[in-house]
Amino acid sequence: MSDLLNKWIDEAKNIIIFTGAGISTESGIPDFRSPSGLWSRMKPIMFQDFISSEKSRVESWSRKFDSENDISFAKPNEGHIAIAKLINFGNASYVITQNIDNLHQDSGISEDKIIELHGNSSYASCLDCKFRYELDEIKSEFISQPVGSKKSPICKECGGIIKSATISFGQPMPEKEMKRAESATLDCDLFLAIGSSLQVYPAASFPIIARKNGAKLVIINREPTELDKIANMVINEEIGSTLKALV
Ligand code: NAD
Ligand code: ZN
Repeated sequence: MSDLLNKWIDEAKNIIIFTGAGISTESGIPDFRSPSGLWSRMKPIMFQDFISSEKSRVESWSRKFDSENDISFAKPNEGHIAIAKLINFGNASYVITQNIDNLHQDSGISEDKIIELHGNSSYASCLDCKFRYELDEIKSEFISQPVGSKKSPICKECGGIIKSATISFGQPMPEKEMKRAESATLDCDLFLAIGSSLQVYPAASFPIIARKNGAKLVIINREPTELDKIANMVINEEIGSTLKALV
C-alpha cells in the first residue's frame, strides 16, 4: 500500500495536506474523539456563551491556564517533520489544518503555506478591534487575581472582549482562510487527510471537494473515518511512523 502511495506522491503535481488533532497526539496533545480524548473530560465552551457570560469567559481562561491543559510546551513530532519536508522540498503546496497548536509553524513551515481553519491558541486577540495580545501578558494578570473573584481580560484599546485566537464551536469560520483552503483544494491532484475523524464541518468538506474535483484522496488515520467510503486509499496506521517511512 505504501509503495503505491509513494508512487502517487512522486507523480503528483500538487499535493495538499490536511491535518487534524491526530497528528499531534504523538506530541502529547490529546485529540477530541479518541476514548481518552478531551471530549471525554470536558465539554467545549460555545462561542455564544463566551460572549454573553462573564462566568463562561472566566471558566475558559481558567481552563486555558490550567497546567494540565497547557499545550505550549509541545514539540513537533516525526509526522509534522515529514510534512514540513514535503512542503519545503517536495511537491506539496499547503497544509490545511484544523489544529490550533502552532506545531506546523514550529516544524519549519512558513506561515504563508499554512491555512488554519480553526485559528491558533498560541496568542489572543480582541473580538472587536482584533488587536493582538500575547498570552504571557494575559496569563500573569489573570492568575494573580484571587480564585472566586477573577475577571476576564478586556481590550486596552477599545474595551472589547479578548479571546484566544481560536475558532470556538458556534463561532463563524474565518472567511479568508476558508477561501484560501477552497482554492488550494481545487488546485491539487492529491489530497492527504491525516489524523482527522472527518466529522467536523465545514472543515471535512475539503476532502470531499478535492475528490469531486478529480484529485486522489488518501486518508491516514488509526481508526475508520466518515469519508473512507469515498477515498482512493485508506491507511489505518500510526501517523508518525507512516509519514516518516513515506517521505
Ligand atoms: P478528532 O479528535 O475528531 O480525530 C482525531 C483522529 O485522529 C481520530 O480518529 C483518532 O483515531 C486519530 N488519531 C489520533 N492519534 C493518532 C495517531 N497517532 N495515528 C493515527 N491516528 C491517530 O480530531 P479532528 O478531526 O481534528 O477534530 C477535532 C477538532 O478539535 C478540530 O477541529 C481541532 O480544531 C480541535 N482540536 C485541536 C487539537 C490540536 O490543535 N492539536 C487538539 C484537539 C482538538
Ligand atoms: Zn479591542
